[in-house]
Amino acid sequence: MVIINDIKIAEYFTLYEFQCPCCSRVMLSPDLLARLDHLRRVIDRPVYINSGYRCPEENKRVGGVAGSYHLLGMAADIHVKDYLLSDLLLYAQEMGFNGIGFYEEKDFLHLDIRPGQKHLWKGKELIGY
Ligand SMILES: [Zn+2]
Ligand SMILES: [Zn+2]
Repeated sequence: MVIINDIKIAEYFTLYEFQCPCCSRVMLSPDLLARLDHLRRVIDRPVYINSGYRCPEENKRVGGVAGSYHLLGMAADIHVKDYLLSDLLLYAQEMGFNGIGFYEEKDFLHLDIRPGQKHLWKGKELIGY
């Protein structure tokens, strides 16, 4: 078996956590990583990366939007076990993620570092920031 992307890249994260599940390719913004590492340190709980980088095929497969920041290595969907999603949201806002999606039913946050205006949405509904 080929071992790929098994490289520690931050205090709490390893590169393979961000790789595309279909092809193991990966792009990752250092700024996204630094903010996630900071968030992880502050909440002091394991942060599970549900989805990091997606190649175009994978993005289509999971029904991601066409211009998804997952395609650019600028987004991650995170899950924290036994943690209130609304609390996680407050910390994520503090860490300065510009795009935040709140997915209560599936218990995860989408976080991205898009440039410009901040976006916070719940499902398909924009709810401000
Ligand atoms: Zn892929
Ligand atoms: Zn996402």
